[in-house]
Amino acid sequence: MGSGNAIRGSRVGAGPMGEAERGEAAPRVRVSFWCANMHETRPSFASDAAVPETWDCPRCGLPAGQDEAAPPAPPRNEPYKTHLAYVKERRSDKDGKAILEEALERLRANKSPW
Ligand SMILES: [Zn+2]
Repeated sequence: MGSGNAIRGSRVGAGPMGEAERGEAAPRVRVSFWCANMHETRPSFASDAAVPETWDCPRCGLPAGQDEAAPPAPPRNEPYKTHLAYVKERRSDKDGKAILEEALERLRANKSPW
């Protein structure tokens, strides 16, 4: 008697799993990225996900951009690209570090009774 109820309960619990499968089947978009060595990478993203401006090239590790004519400059080389784009990249990198540090501080704060 009790076990019958348990089986029904597990069937109800299977609902969220069905949702997860639907998520995997969601439409994806392929975006091409080119690194400074002109390697083309075409990762796919969920159609509702934000596509990053740059993507690490899986072949050489350099940052790859969506503009084939102007791939991101290799980090260790002198920037021969437009100065504005270079500054933009550095700024977003700094923002990322700031966000990470803020998150870490919040994690530490959560350990307090607050
Ligand atoms: Zn590459």
